[in-house]
Amino acid sequence: MKVLVLNSGSSSIKYQFFDTDEKIALAKGMVERIGMSSAVLTHTPHGKEKIRIVGEILDHSIAIEYVIAVLLSPNHGVIKDKKEIDAVGHRVVHGGETFSGSVLITDQVMNAIKENIELAPLHNPPNIKGINATKEQLPNVPQVAVFDTAFHVQMPPKAFLYGIPYELYRKYKIRRYGFHGTSHRYVSERAAALLNRPIEELKIITAHLGNGCSMAAVDCGKSVDTTMGFTPLEGLLMGTRSGDMDPSVILYIMGKEGLSISEANTLLNKHSGLIGLSGESSDMREIENAVLEGNKKAKNAFDVFTYRIKKYIGAYAAAMGGLDAVVFTGGIGENSDMVRRDVCANMEFLGIKLDENLNQNPKGEAVISSEDSEVKVLRIPTNEELVIALDTEKIVREQLNNLPS
Ligand code: ADP
Repeated sequence: MKVLVLNSGSSSIKYQFFDTDEKIALAKGMVERIGMSSAVLTHTPHGKEKIRIVGEILDHSIAIEYVIAVLLSPNHGVIKDKKEIDAVGHRVVHGGETFSGSVLITDQVMNAIKENIELAPLHNPPNIKGINATKEQLPNVPQVAVFDTAFHVQMPPKAFLYGIPYELYRKYKIRRYGFHGTSHRYVSERAAALLNRPIEELKIITAHLGNGCSMAAVDCGKSVDTTMGFTPLEGLLMGTRSGDMDPSVILYIMGKEGLSISEANTLLNKHSGLIGLSGESSDMREIENAVLEGNKKAKNAFDVFTYRIKKYIGAYAAAMGGLDAVVFTGGIGENSDMVRRDVCANMEFLGIKLDENLNQNPKGEAVISSEDSEVKVLRIPTNEELVIALDTEKIVREQLNNLPS
């Protein structure tokens, strides 16, 4: 099946066009600066050079028209007819408590996504725009929504409830939701496959470390806890986000500095984390270089980053009552041997022993723990778009099989 995967933001749309039988992206690209007269589409067909097109792309519908046109283009395209697009899969950030899996998009589903706008005011509206624009451009093609939150929705109340009056959970749905669910699901499944064991008998901790960072405790294939919470601000230290802290700190700063709610939000989401602590950069490569040059603030930022991951490994091993594997993924998790080394240092008591050679030179999906490590440590590149494509294929095929003959 040929599936177009879309990740729609407020002024950009990222896309990948998959052949799900081969599990490869035939083309990938991005439309940026939507709404401007000089919007840019970059497009890379599999195995070929990237091309760049500048045009007036005033809304999401025109952006998708451009994407379809480039997929059809004689020189850079990968299909000959629009009809070859069998289905479209959308990344949708917040499914609230409504969705515990991917779904075919219907009017009812659209209403539920709209109801969850309050929980993700920056993300769900552009996701909805992308879906509506696709409906305009490809009216007869089935569309599927794959939610960042779905994998975590069924964690137990002891993991998702906050210690605030229960009424507030009932009234405003304030609870831990968790994000990066597609990635945690994918890498935990890949880890089980790589270890050649059924996921139903494994206790896995997954660490998705990119610009945003989160961890999940995956017990028997199910997420039973995760570090991000009501919003993607909680948990680990991130590029520009604070992660965990005493909630009183922000009330105190707001009082002292006279910050509005919106300014406080910006402080915690954009000026904290690695950039806030180091004063240097939100980019882990630059933090690592600064650490190696002896920069003390960068070293503090690096240490807070790795220490918190280490603490959550301990916490989640305790929560699951055991541990079989730790998986590193995301830009930092996949590429930083320095972060993996620091996180796994002195963890022999828990059965974690890294193989330093394997850690420094992992290729593709790899076990990087030593032979005698009771807990396996893995480096697995994430592929959220492939999961969206495969979920979309599965749901559309089920739908076709259920049609009356
Ligand atoms: P996003 O969350 O936006 O998808 P990525 O998963 O691409 O981001 O991760 C971006 C992070 O990965 C940045 O902090 C970047 O510095 C880090 N990163 C990428 N390559 C390396 C590397 N070789 N060593 C250390 N960090 C890296």
